[in-house]
This record gives sequence, C-alpha cells and structure tokens, in this order.
Amino acid sequence: MPEAIELVGENNDKKFVAGGTNLIDLLKYFITSADTLVDINKIEGAAYHEIHEHHGGLRLGAFARNADTAYHPLVEKQYPLLSKAILAGASAQIRNMATNGGNLLQRTRCYYFYDANAPCNKREPGSGCSAIPGYNRIMAILGTSEQCIAVFPSDMCIALAALEAVVNIAGPAGERQVPFADFHRLPGNTPHLDNNLQQGELITSIDLPEKGFAENYSYLKLRDRHSYAFALVSVATGLELEGEVIRDARIVLGGVAHKPWRVREAEVFLMDKKANEKNFAAAAEIVLEGAQGYRFNGFKIELAKRAIVRNCMMALHPEQSQLPGARP
Ligand SMILES: Cc1cc2nc3c(=O)[nH]c(=O)nc-3n(C[C@H](O)[C@H](O)[C@H](O)COP(=O)(O)OP(=O)(O)OC[C@H]3O[C@@H](n4cnc5c(N)ncnc54)[C@H](O)[C@@H]3O)c2cc1C
Ligand code: SF4
Repeated sequence: MPEAIELVGENNDKKFVAGGTNLIDLLKYFITSADTLVDINKIEGAAYHEIHEHHGGLRLGAFARNADTAYHPLVEKQYPLLSKAILAGASAQIRNMATNGGNLLQRTRCYYFYDANAPCNKREPGSGCSAIPGYNRIMAILGTSEQCIAVFPSDMCIALAALEAVVNIAGPAGERQVPFADFHRLPGNTPHLDNNLQQGELITSIDLPEKGFAENYSYLKLRDRHSYAFALVSVATGLELEGEVIRDARIVLGGVAHKPWRVREAEVFLMDKKANEKNFAAAAEIVLEGAQGYRFNGFKIELAKRAIVRNCMMALHPEQSQLPGARP
C-alpha cells in the first residue's frame, strides 16, 4: 500500500483506479485526465478486500465489491439497511465491479458536468453553472450555493450516513479517520471539491458502529425508472422502538444535496414520541426546512417530505418491503 500512495503522491495526473466504473467514463468524456493509473485492486491485505467484525461492528474493506458487501451474511443480518441501499443502486453488473471506496468518491451525475462544452464550476472553477438557469430537474434543493446545485448520487452513502460510519484513510501524512458526516462537502465557493479526501490519500476501509437498526429500517429510492437510474429522492431510515415509542431515529435524504442530508433536530424531535404518520410528517418538515426549488425541480420538496413519511412507516414493517436484487 505505501508504494501505491507514493506512486500517486501530490501529482493530480496520477490517479488510483478501483472498479473503474466511474473513473473510466470520466476519462473517456475528457472530464478528467490522468497520465498514470495505479490499480489498487492489486494491493494485498485481507483488511482492504474483505468484510470482518471489528469492535462490535463491521469493517468494510475499501476494495471489496459493492455486491459482495450487500450480500455478505453479516451485513445482511446486522446492517440490512446498507444491503438494501446498495442493491437499489446501478445494475448487478456494475455492483459486481464497483468498490466500496469508489462508491464514496463517485462524481455527480449533473448533465452539464459531463458535457465538456458546457460551463461548469465543478469541472472548471470560475466558468459558471449551466444548471442554475438550465434544465435542473435532477439537481439539489438543499445546501446549494450560487456556484453549484449538483447532487451527490450515491445510494450506499445514504445508508452509511444513517449508520454513522467512519472512513479510514491512509496517505502521505499517515493514517486518519473521518466521521461520515464530515467526509463529503457542500459546494459553497469550492464546488470542484466533492469531499475532504486530500490528493494522494487512499480510503482503506469503512467502519460500521455496533448499532445497525436491523429490526426497523427501510431504504426508499424514487426515480424516473424502476432500475438502473439515479435517485430523484431517496431516504434511509433506521428506528429504535420500544413498543410504539421511538427511542432513537436516523433519517438521511439522498438525491437532494451535494452530500447525504441529515438533520439531527428532526431525529431528536422524534425521540420518545409515538411512531406514527403525524410525527413523521412533522419530522419531515424539519428535514426540509430551508429547501429551495429551481425552475424544474421544485417538486422534489414535496416528494422528499412524502418519501420520509412513507419510508419511516415502511421501517415499522421492514419484512414487507422487498427490492429487486434482494435475496428471495
Ligand atoms: C450506469 C451507471 C449507473 C449507476 N447507478 C448508480 C446508482 O444508482 N447508485 C449508486 O450509488 N451508484 C451508481 N453508480 C455509480 C457506481 O456505484 C460507482 O461508479 C462506483 O461505486 C464507483 O466505484 P469504482 O470502484 O468503480 O470506482 P472508480 O471508478 O475506480 O473510482 C472512482 C474514483 O474514486 C477513486 N478511488 C477509488 N477507490 C479509491 C480508494 N479506495 N481510495 C482513494 N481513491 C479511490 C478513483 O481514483 C476515482 O477518482 C452507477 C454507475 C454507472 C456507470
Ligand atoms: S450544478 Fe455544479 S456540476 Fe452542475 S453545471 Fe452547475 S457547477 Fe457544474
């Protein structure tokens, strides 16, 4: 591993490649460039490739495939919310190639970002944002800036945010851990930066704390097509219940912001309250506070509120919700 880190170093033209499902597209469309690709699949060490128990929770190797993670018996048993979110993403073929580390670092699906001829502050800082005056149906409604309204498209990361995962990183300056909430960034004045990983740093694994919300959980993904499409809005919910009363709650939205969107106040609001539609609707209002729609995506505000209520209700009976790709 130290060799790989040294090979990439401070040079932005040298990049790690894992499954290649995003990076190779970006190279083909001339959105990014590289003179050297360092294949991290070849780095040896079970900790990077496998999934194992760790301090009461699980450690997910960064180079483990999304499919192997979703179908791992320990993930299915202790963190079914994560399995469900991963299986809601992409296609079976892509999940077989895509890695856990790569999933955190996939880039936005903003149409203008992928069109090398369109002004885009994320691709070319200072050039402008084509999405704000343009066709912005899939764009963000929360945490936007005047420079960028793109959304982070991952499904897996929405569950990881709800589970309060921790990202393990190794780099030229040594090793460090970043709580999931601090890993991705809002666009602000630096929309070219999606996350807080520094040049040359490698994600080595992702830790899941013990609490997995395995009894009451649900992941809901709303999109234009039933499969092989990114979320217009998605929701990860984990509830801890005592009878009908909520003792702990996690609600994270995807498809609405530049990072997984979690509002702790909404979760605190639900504590010690009854698990019913009225309380979930009030929590949804808190999550969507300050949401701003643009010309073509104002519908997402109401959609997100309804998705939260529906998903929280589904979390009360997780056995009743099945997903394509899930084990029968
Ligand atoms: C058609 C299509 C549909 C998709 N639909 C969905 C969807 O619905 N939901 C969803 O969540 N995702 C979806 N995806 C995205 C897919 O999940 C990601 O492309 C994938 O997770 C990226 O992982 P990878 O290993 O292939 O990354 P790569 O493409 O190999 O790498 C991506 C980036 O991460 C860097 N990198 C990779 N691993 C590491 C590491 N360990 N440390 C540091 N840097 C690293 C690379 O340098 C590169 O910059 C879709 C992709 C495609 C092509
Ligand atoms: S929303 Fe962001 S990614 Fe899309 S065009 Fe604007 S600056 Fe680029």
